[in-house]
Amino acid sequence: MSQAIISEQSEEQRALVAGEATPEDRQAELSLRPRSLDEYIGQSKITTNLKIFLRAALGRREALDHVLFFGPPGLGKTTLSQIIAQEMDAPLKTVSAPAVERGGDLAAILTNLQEGEVLFIDEIHRLKPQIEEVLYSAMEDYQLDLMIGQGTAARSIKLDLPKFTLVGATTRAGLITAPLRGRFGIVFHLDFYSQKDLEIIVHRSAEILGVEIEATGARELARRARGTPRIANRLLRRVRDFAQVIGDGRITQEVARRALDEMEVDKFGLDEVDRKILTTIIEKFDGGPVGIGTIAASISEERESIEEIIEPYLIQIGFLNRTPRGRTLTRAAYKHMGYAPPKVQQELIAS
Ligand code: ADP
Repeated sequence: MSQAIISEQSEEQRALVAGEATPEDRQAELSLRPRSLDEYIGQSKITTNLKIFLRAALGRREALDHVLFFGPPGLGKTTLSQIIAQEMDAPLKTVSAPAVERGGDLAAILTNLQEGEVLFIDEIHRLKPQIEEVLYSAMEDYQLDLMIGQGTAARSIKLDLPKFTLVGATTRAGLITAPLRGRFGIVFHLDFYSQKDLEIIVHRSAEILGVEIEATGARELARRARGTPRIANRLLRRVRDFAQVIGDGRITQEVARRALDEMEVDKFGLDEVDRKILTTIIEKFDGGPVGIGTIAASISEERESIEEIIEPYLIQIGFLNRTPRGRTLTRAAYKHMGYAPPKVQQELIAS
């Protein structure tokens, strides 16, 4: 029983600073999602380029070229796909790759598209290979090659498709096949957000939610949001609850600090699992190098979630390095965790 409670609590804890959306996030995000490029904060390289590509496509009265977004969960890929449809004044169809089980499912989706429609495929790296192949001619020639019948009676027919825009999103750049990647005319890599941009996002969300927040309170939230808007919004909702119960409803720095400390989100936005990874590498592997599979096994976490969600941020804040021999920790990670780097490690880190 107590075991069950502990694991439930750590699930909840994990969910607080995990990039993936929880059902509660999905509900809350309906009102918080920016609806136009002008409302979209940060990622200025992407928005500047996208504005030009959109204007050019609109000017030519053509569908926008296919777009691929890379980046960890919660950085705004789905939001951008919706904005693209909005700005092109086109309908949007959203599917998640794992839900497309057979080639026929994709054929049905493609043949039902309207001229200019935006088809958003989330987690596109998870399409099955034979389904992915159906996409190739659809993307390149707006044609669908279908095999009908079986054995000697089998023949292939070609169907013309409306000119559509495929927007693909993936958290794993390395898992997209070269032929698929090559068929996207526009490829964007989303970076973690700067603290400044996250502060602006927190203020914007607070205003939409009708919460009063001081600049120092917003700064505290932004600092601990792992560079991720979805996490910033989630922390804001949780801290709002604290402010209501322990204060007068206003989010001050003091309230934000107390709430976040209480929820064990530290000043770098690290939670229990991050700290477990760092301590394990320090205590069991002398700071590395150690393989990701070994780390995953040692802390009983899935390798995929470490690679996709936890590791990119630890690398971004300069705590972890990915080397050909495995992962190594940096001096900053030792310091943050309150350990002195071992001698060999010091040399390794210094080099
Ligand atoms: P992804 O598809 O990359 O997982 P989403 O597009 O679903 O991420 O974004 C998660 C939430 O974060 C959105 O609902 C929105 O509230 C917020 N968000 C994302 N990007 C921005 C941004 N640039 N400006 C403001 N809010 C953002």
